Amino acid sequence: MSSVLEISGLRVAVNGKEILRGIDLRVASGEVHAVMGPNGAGKSTLSQAVMGKPGYEVLGGTVTLDGADLLAMEPWQRAQAGLFLGMQYPTEVAGVGVEDLLREALRSAGRDSTQVSASVATEAARIGLDVRLLLRSLNVDLSGGEKKRNETLQLAVLQPRFAILDEIDSGLDIDALRAVSRRVEAATEEFGLGVLAITHYHRLLDELKPDVVHILARGRIVASGGPDLARQVEADGYAAFADAGAEVA
Ligand code: ADP
Ligand code: MG
Repeated sequence: MSSVLEISGLRVAVNGKEILRGIDLRVASGEVHAVMGPNGAGKSTLSQAVMGKPGYEVLGGTVTLDGADLLAMEPWQRAQAGLFLGMQYPTEVAGVGVEDLLREALRSAGRDSTQVSASVATEAARIGLDVRLLLRSLNVDLSGGEKKRNETLQLAVLQPRFAILDEIDSGLDIDALRAVSRRVEAATEEFGLGVLAITHYHRLLDELKPDVVHILARGRIVASGGPDLARQVEADGYAAFADAGAEVA
């Protein structure tokens, strides 16, 4: 089944300040869209607003998943509709194990949860995460790289339709980066995952092959293109694109 995540004219304010000033993105199943941009451009704001974090005020526009209005839903309903957010700074949750979390997530969505232990073991091996770490509370006492591998493991077990990955590469060494990006790339084929990958660096995109690269600057998409755009921005910097964003204020 092919799905579409569509963001149209999205405007979002935080603390009364307009951060996103009209974002249009359309991601279909199996596609990888990379969003690159300077610090403060609004990349995390985009991911939080689409997932529905409180405090992100939608001023205008729509976000739909196969036509269903995500903005009208609570975050857990968005997750059940098929959206997954890989956080830039994964939250530590004392007292909740990853298997319990995944089992409950599947069960509450009316999905089969009987294979969770087996899936977690399989995915831990694939992503190179010591299963003993998963007996701990969620993310508690994990290193930055282990947390990102853990986010990827949860993604692989839950098999959402779309994943927004907010700098899943930050804090990763080169081996972890390769493991994470390969696993996500494989998911685009294994279960048709559509990906919105927010990143600063081209490195992530060596294994996680983007179909489209977008540059986000000052709350707008100021350029979109093929994989070459990621190389261009890494060679030339964001300055030219940031200026383009400024003119349309
Ligand atoms: P990026 O992820 O691209 O670095 P962010 O989306 O985190 O950018 O931030 C975009 C802008 O919104 C920045 O100017 C930042 O200071 C501001 N901002 C983000 N979150 C908050 C918040 N909770 N309160 C106030 N300002 C915020
Ligand atoms: Mg950010």
